[in-house]
Amino acid sequence: MTGWEPVVGLEIHIQLKTQTKMFCRCENVWGEGPNTRTCPVCLAHPGTLPVPNGRAIEWAVKLGLALGCEVAERSVFHRKNYFYPDLPKGYQISQYDEPLCTAGRFAVPGSGGDHEIGIVRAHLEEDAAKTVHVGGKAGRISGAAHSLVDFNRGGTPLVEIVTEPDLHSPEEARRFLQLLRQTVVELGISDAEMEKGSLRCDANVSVRREGEEGLRTKTELKNMNSFKFVGDGIAAEVARQIEVYESGGEVGQETLHFDPASGRISSLRSKEEAHDYRYFPEPDLVPVEPPAALVERMRAEIGELPAARIRRLEGELDFDLSYGLVASGRDELYERVPGERRAVANVVMNQLAATGAHPGRVNAEELGKLIEARDRIPRATFDEALTAAGEPGFTAERYLAEEAVTDASELDPVIERVLAANGSQVAAYRSGKEGLLGFFVGQVMRETQGKANPKVVNERLRERLGA
Ligand code: ZN
Ligand code: MN
Repeated sequence: MTGWEPVVGLEIHIQLKTQTKMFCRCENVWGEGPNTRTCPVCLAHPGTLPVPNGRAIEWAVKLGLALGCEVAERSVFHRKNYFYPDLPKGYQISQYDEPLCTAGRFAVPGSGGDHEIGIVRAHLEEDAAKTVHVGGKAGRISGAAHSLVDFNRGGTPLVEIVTEPDLHSPEEARRFLQLLRQTVVELGISDAEMEKGSLRCDANVSVRREGEEGLRTKTELKNMNSFKFVGDGIAAEVARQIEVYESGGEVGQETLHFDPASGRISSLRSKEEAHDYRYFPEPDLVPVEPPAALVERMRAEIGELPAARIRRLEGELDFDLSYGLVASGRDELYERVPGERRAVANVVMNQLAATGAHPGRVNAEELGKLIEARDRIPRATFDEALTAAGEPGFTAERYLAEEAVTDASELDPVIERVLAANGSQVAAYRSGKEGLLGFFVGQVMRETQGKANPKVVNERLRERLGA
């Protein structure tokens, strides 16, 4: 990859969790029986008329503001025409040359400073229905025996966000998307869950020589449904394009599918152009003209954004911990737990997360007591307590009563046994491989079923092995 620079822009679709759909009063819910949330409007019966969802417009404005966008005083719905069985009208109501939000900047903190990602636009549209392919491989259309359409999803409010091609590595794209997701969740406007399809991401990918100006031909990677696949898919496509150029070929403009199982990229179709959709203004809807008071009301509802919190927490933690806590939404618990900041951050981010305990249900005071005592109580007891920490009525007290073994007369015989059984490691340690100390501590902890105090074991071992 040396000598080449990836150039990536993302197109993200976010389902808004309004009570009702974008242009009708059908309930907007996920996971109900197929075709139970439909009406003549979202099924496109002739003679029906769309009525825009006011809350969806407000939330799109709110999201636009959080992305640093300008909110248009006048914005227009267009018809985007194409044929597919999940689109009964034969067009999607979307926005074209007068979108609701434009020209934003979204800061992605990095260890070396912020990287600003340009936001071209954030517009409102409606989702298509969901097609389910039956009998094929991995639910895909190729090889399927038949396909079914569930119109429940048809007409769900969507915000489509388009970024500038400002992302220059798969890792950066993944981080941007994670932070965007956390922002959307905190705004309270979407669950933004990639597995459920309420957050969907396509990537426009090209590469160029380092230092080269201008952009080369881009390809579009469709529907990657996890943060990991977004990173892996972009990495695979970047590698493919570099190989094409280095072997003297040309990259063609096309739409691609990334298969996470095989890591392979396959072609879906050659890319369509905007004019293929024959966009024209939706004659059944008036322009959207959000009043200034509405925009200000939405602005006032936006709290401290994740990027700003990462910077704030960086005052007491290193960047990776600070980023990890905020991007995972665990910083709210972290801030409530009293105690030494690094220790609290590590437990909340790693050990507690591993137990699956819901951060919002953990009693912060009690967790603080537990963390404060973690060197005095047996490791096994600490782990057990963490597993229980998310349960209602959890208190640290009963775990704190159990003291770890610190008594040398109990620990020394175990240490002797461990050293005797691992003669070659002892010799290696003494000849300078001091990293092996952790191995010996681990062995002693195992022998004592996690009841020894690791700090004391450490000290005794050092003494016994000779510094
Ligand atoms: Zn409906
Ligand atoms: Mn779209």
